[in-house]
Amino acid sequence: SPVVFLHQIERQYRQGDVTLDVLKGAELAVWSGQMVALIAPSGAGKSTLLHIAGLLEHQDAGEVYIDDVPTSNLSDTERTRIRRNEIGFVYQAHHLLGEFTAVENVMLPQMIRGLPKHEAQERGAELLSYLGLKDRLTHRPAELSGGEQQRVAIARAVANAPRLLLADEPTGNLDPKTSEHVFRALTQLVRASRLAAVIATHNLDIAARMDRRVTLKDGRILEVE
Ligand code: ADP
Ligand code: ADP
Repeated sequence: SPVVFLHQIERQYRQGDVTLDVLKGAELAVWSGQMVALIAPSGAGKSTLLHIAGLLEHQDAGEVYIDDVPTSNLSDTERTRIRRNEIGFVYQAHHLLGEFTAVENVMLPQMIRGLPKHEAQERGAELLSYLGLKDRLTHRPAELSGGEQQRVAIARAVANAPRLLLADEPTGNLDPKTSEHVFRALTQLVRASRLAAVIATHNLDIAARMDRRVTLKDGRILEVE
């Protein structure tokens, strides 16, 4: 069964007197080991869909199943637990904590989950080394290049070994060569850990190398070539 199954998702926003129907029955299932590119124009609802899939935002109708568990009627505590343990996020801007080192940024979500410091440190160092950042463990974000910062953000996103990775234009701020490095890092992790991944991107070269491509049209998901 899919890691994430979005079933007939509807979402509206009120903007003054106007109601905006952003999602109108969006349907998407993603299996373990699958990388899905989400390609759609600005304003189509990509971030909204990712926030709903990541249990950061509630849909108005429809259901989000994570590993077959319907999530809409769960308590906030339970949704937070699933989000922390099962779901990793990568954003366009890295959102790393500036006063902490690279490895500390990757340790934090693990320590919030209750792992002992030395275990979090060991896994943090291992993940960063795996992503080619062995020599950057004790650098602070400001001392790293954009591509390196984004690889630290990827390591942080998978620090708690999630089943689902959601990325919102993870290479959006990077030049083509750096985007390539970051995409390879993402792919490496998705393949190694058999994650289900949904990656919103405007980069068609990168999208072409994922397993599936989908778009949002009139609030619905369509598979594209
Ligand atoms: P994308 O990520 O594809 O650019 P978004 O999901 O961010 O699209 O936004 C889809 C539409 O919903 C846009 O028109 C946006 O302005 C609107 N929107 C998003 N979030 C909100 C919100 N919190 N309140 C009102 N409108 C919103
Ligand atoms: P990548 O392609 O992996 O993102 P770059 O080619 O952009 O790497 O950067 C090369 C090296 O320069 C990096 O290893 C990084 O440590 C260093 N560097 C880049 N930007 C900065 C910065 N703002 N401060 C300190 N070092 C930097």
